Amino acid sequence: MNTELIKVLNQVLGVGKKTAKNNMAFQCPFCNTTKKKLEVQLITNEKGENSWHCWVCNTSGKKITTLFKPLNVSRHILTDLYKIVKPNNKYTDINIDSIRKSMTEIKLPMEYIPLYKKSNSIEYKNALHYLYHTRKLTLSEIVKYGIGYCESGEYAYKIIIPSYDGNGKLNYFVGRSYYDTSHKHKNPDVSKNIIPMELFINWQLPIVLCEGAFDAIAIRRNAIPLFGKVIPEKLKLKIVEEKVKTIYIALDKDAQKQAMQHAEYFINNGCNVYFVDLNEKDPAEIGFEMMCKLIKESRQLTEYDLLKMKVLL
Ligand SMILES: [Zn+2]
Repeated sequence: MNTELIKVLNQVLGVGKKTAKNNMAFQCPFCNTTKKKLEVQLITNEKGENSWHCWVCNTSGKKITTLFKPLNVSRHILTDLYKIVKPNNKYTDINIDSIRKSMTEIKLPMEYIPLYKKSNSIEYKNALHYLYHTRKLTLSEIVKYGIGYCESGEYAYKIIIPSYDGNGKLNYFVGRSYYDTSHKHKNPDVSKNIIPMELFINWQLPIVLCEGAFDAIAIRRNAIPLFGKVIPEKLKLKIVEEKVKTIYIALDKDAQKQAMQHAEYFINNGCNVYFVDLNEKDPAEIGFEMMCKLIKESRQLTEYDLLKMKVLL
C-alpha cells in the first residue's frame, strides 16, 4: 500500500477511509456532502496518474495534481507529491515508435534542389528572396549549410536545411515554407535523438544551445539548434564527454523551464552554464551583432538559482 501517498492525501483532504480495490475515500472539497464520497485510486500508473471521482458532484480527474490545484496546497506538500507520483521514465522514453524512428535511415527529399545552383525558375527566385531578405542569410551561408528547396513533392515550396553529424553524414533536416502559409514547418518522421549540426561544432570552444536552425545560423559561432525545446540525450552525453567548459542557453521562457533540469546536469558535470535573456524574441530576429552583445551580458547560473527554481516549481 502506498503509505507515502496516503499521508499526503490525509494532510490535504482530511483522514480518509479505505474502500474497495485500491481506492480510498475522502470528504469532497468541491461539494458540501459530509460523507466520504471522493474516491482516489491509490496505485499510480506508469503515466503518473491516480484517477479520482466524487460520487455526489461528479467532479473527477486523472491526476492528483489537478485535484490539489484548486485547493491552494502548500509548496512543500506539492513537492512531496511530485516525488511520489512522478511518471516512470522507462514508460516515456522507450516505445515502439521511437525504436522504429531510430532505425529509419534519413535521406534528403528526392525533390531537394541545392540553392547554390543558379536557376531561372520562379520558385528558385522566391526561395532565395526569402533567405536573403526575410532571413538575412548570405550566399556563403547557403553554401556552407547546403541549404536547398523543393518545387514539388511532400516538401514543395519549403526551404530545406540539412543537419550533418561529425562525419558529414546526414542525421536530420528541417523544412520551412518560404511562403506565408499556415503550415510553415515540416520535418521528417525520424528520431531527433541526434547531435544537430555537429559538423560545424568545435567542442573545445563555448557552445550556444538554441531552438531552430535559422537561430543557429544567425548566431554563427558554435551554435547547436535543438530542433525543438528538448535537449536530445545524445547531445547531453556528447557535451559531457567532450568536457565542454561553457554553455550558453539561448531559449525562450517556455523552453528555459525544461532547460533548467539539463542545466543542473551540466553544472554537476563541471560546465559553466549561462542563460541568455532573449526578451521574448528569437536569435534569428535579434541578429548576429545584438546576439553577441546578449551573450556577453548573459548571467551565469549558480547552484542557488537551481535551488530557487526547484522550490518555485
Ligand atoms: Zn463532490
